[in-house]
Amino acid sequence: DELSAPIDGVVISRFGQHADIEDSSGDIFRCNIRRTITSLVCGDKVLWRKGKETKHTVSGVVEAVKDRSSTLARPDVYDGVKPIAANISQIIIVSSVLPAYNSDIIDRYLVACENTGIKPTILLNKVDLLDDELADIIEESLNIYRDIGYEIMFASSESGHGIDALKQKLADETSIFVGQSGVGKSTLTNALMPGLDLITKDVSENSGLGQHTTTVARLFHFPDGGDLIDSPGIREFGLWHLTPEQVFNGFVEFAEFLGDCKFRDCKHLNDPGCALQAAVQSGKIYEERLDSFHRIISSLDENTLTSRFN
Ligand code: GDP
Ligand code: ZN
Repeated sequence: DELSAPIDGVVISRFGQHADIEDSSGDIFRCNIRRTITSLVCGDKVLWRKGKETKHTVSGVVEAVKDRSSTLARPDVYDGVKPIAANISQIIIVSSVLPAYNSDIIDRYLVACENTGIKPTILLNKVDLLDDELADIIEESLNIYRDIGYEIMFASSESGHGIDALKQKLADETSIFVGQSGVGKSTLTNALMPGLDLITKDVSENSGLGQHTTTVARLFHFPDGGDLIDSPGIREFGLWHLTPEQVFNGFVEFAEFLGDCKFRDCKHLNDPGCALQAAVQSGKIYEERLDSFHRIISSLDENTLTSRFN
């Protein structure tokens, strides 16, 4: 009788037996979770009943989870995969000039993205550090991705270049930033979301309900529209374990050729009758991508490889 009728809400963060739920006016309520709910993560849209107090006391109940448009899940020793965020609509792969631009790492992130079904965009950050020579080299590599069909963006938190375009790209979407440490994700996030540090501090210091808020995935609103889901674990997404199957699926332009190799166990190296090699020869696949594919495959655990190739 203390609770409202069921209303719509969004999971801002989930920790243990509790979740912070936001209502339509932006107020956050700490809630218990019905035992019938088997999976509840940041970004989930829910039906819940509101209690009287706001976020610093447990005062509501999550009743049901709505269908997800996407799930970001990480490999888990016990569960196979463990969902950590839901309803993400785009992934911004951040690369930079310093640490040096590295297309192998971009390919690895693309593989991870393609296996979620969430649309990736490649963002070259710190463009204030570009000189002409470096710009030419990177442009050539980025053109490969453009050709395959990926969207490319440029930004610099230092000069402000590309920040307005990025704001537009983020509006009306739920995004995550991924990429190597040091490429400027935090700086970018702070530039897009002034005061973010304050919010984070406020929740973890005042809640009295645990210090988990800074390490679990959390949903933030950009002032110019759109949401960001962030956590240290999400930023490392893409460096998680990959299976050979995921690597195959992740090089999207290979798909139309894969069935045409002469031998079923073709490793697409120097195998006779390899359709991927032929596609490289005829200019339908970039050699850079096939080389990168081989480097990723050979970096994978030997045990998982045998199951794919035998
Ligand atoms: P993260 O690990 O991806 O979150 O990277 P950070 O945001 O912590 O940035 C790493 C370093 O790059 C810091 O020293 C930043 O000051 C610097 N940095 C971030 N953005 C830019 C930029 O646009 N231009 C330049 N020159 N440096 C930047
Ligand atoms: Zn082949």
